Amino acid sequence: MQEIADLIGAEAERAEPAARTRGGELAGAGAVQLVRFSPALVTAEVDDGAACVEFRVVDGVLRRHCSCPEGRAGAFCAHCVATAQSVRMRTDRKDSPGASSATASERTVRTAS
Ligand SMILES: [Zn+2]
Repeated sequence: MQEIADLIGAEAERAEPAARTRGGELAGAGAVQLVRFSPALVTAEVDDGAACVEFRVVDGVLRRHCSCPEGRAGAFCAHCVATAQSVRMRTDRKDSPGASSATASERTVRTAS
């Protein structure tokens, strides 16, 4: 379950700033309805022109689709960003009691040699 969330999150960071801002607003306003949430498929409906977003993992590669004009043109649109944020909110809640990630990041900090 974590894998598709990570892939979606990484893609969302490459979205245009305008799409990220708008997507954040939509997610914050509760406009995202996650319809399906499975390890290989996430679909959502975004209450912004009734956009339908789909993320699918095929052979380890994330594919996305949104019904809006930008999404169909191949852009990572605001609806994809909003869906990504909703997915993250959902997965973060599950992972919150985890002290192990802190020690892992400490391990990567090396003293200058
Ligand atoms: Zn869209």
